[in-house]
Amino acid sequence: MTELVDSFRRTVKYMRVSLTDRCNLRCNYCMPAWGNHWMEKDTLLNYDELIRVIELAATRGVYKIRVTGGEPLVRKGCVDFIRRVGEVEGITEVAMTTNAILLKDHAQELYDAGLRHLNISLDSLNTEKFHEITRGNQLARVWEGIEEAVKVGFPSIKINAVAQKGVNDDEFVDFVNLTRDMRIDMRFIEFMPVSDWNNWQQKYISIDEIQNIIKEGVGELIPVYDGDAAAGPAENYRIPGYVGRVGFIHAISNHFCDTCNRIRLTADGKVRPCLFGKIEVDFREAMREGATNEELNELFDEVLQIKPDAHNITMASPEKMLTSMTAIGG
Ligand code: SAM
Ligand code: SF4
Repeated sequence: MTELVDSFRRTVKYMRVSLTDRCNLRCNYCMPAWGNHWMEKDTLLNYDELIRVIELAATRGVYKIRVTGGEPLVRKGCVDFIRRVGEVEGITEVAMTTNAILLKDHAQELYDAGLRHLNISLDSLNTEKFHEITRGNQLARVWEGIEEAVKVGFPSIKINAVAQKGVNDDEFVDFVNLTRDMRIDMRFIEFMPVSDWNNWQQKYISIDEIQNIIKEGVGELIPVYDGDAAAGPAENYRIPGYVGRVGFIHAISNHFCDTCNRIRLTADGKVRPCLFGKIEVDFREAMREGATNEELNELFDEVLQIKPDAHNITMASPEKMLTSMTAIGG
């Protein structure tokens, strides 16, 4: 079977899979206060349909799957699904992005199901501020989840913070200092425009500015290269004497589209070649109308043809906003 090579000669190796658009938090940069128009249950791909798309992607060379959401752990059966993903021939890396609210209870069973790569979203270490950002007063639960994951022994734990000017920029150094004793990657993500309500232009802060704040607080950042092509777009650094690492994801200020190796499967069964914009190919309808594997492979070819060369979002022109981060999975 031919590999998933797009019209700009990039090879897709990595698929992010959103299990649900529902979530047990309401982060103010991700969702409006009034919530979302949730997807009808029967529009979500069931687990067999999800596995079918993953199996086909694996026959075309995809080896890494990240399970995300909404919040993946709110979907019943998520742990068993993780096990099934790990059993798909060709899939060698299974990862999850979670807000960790339910992690304490599930960390061991996720590990036993084969999960090794855990990304945890955490935007503040301050109880009130965490409450304000997520509209949920549950920082203690998140922290217990992180401690449990460390105890269980996940070899890769990354904490992701969306950097927001005037919101958590006074905590960047505190976040970095977590890496002094914890063997984690602390990563800063540039705030992305989702819709009119997320005040993007006021709160956006570039990775250059974030790094300057960190350097003022802790001194030198030493670049690290881990040589893993599918590891993702983060630029990684370490601080002398610290056991963990610090990473930066500059999706806006210096986009990494020319090395993009990923596609996304939305909770309702659309494959998106790019996080931004609105282009997607509907696998759900095709599967429910009885498409053969050959026909689904033709849909993958369509995805490759429409994968854009770059997202082209800038501070001056944020017009290609995301439609919904929860449906796509970040
Ligand atoms: N609920 C899970 C979580 O929060 O980790 C998984 C889904 S969430 C949509 C995936 C990632 O997207 C999270 O790291 C979240 O912080 C990030 N995200 C959501 N909205 C964003 C935005 N406007 N800009 C940058 N990252 C965003
Ligand atoms: Fe939920 Fe994650 Fe979006 Fe926050 S970022 S509302 S935790 S999906």
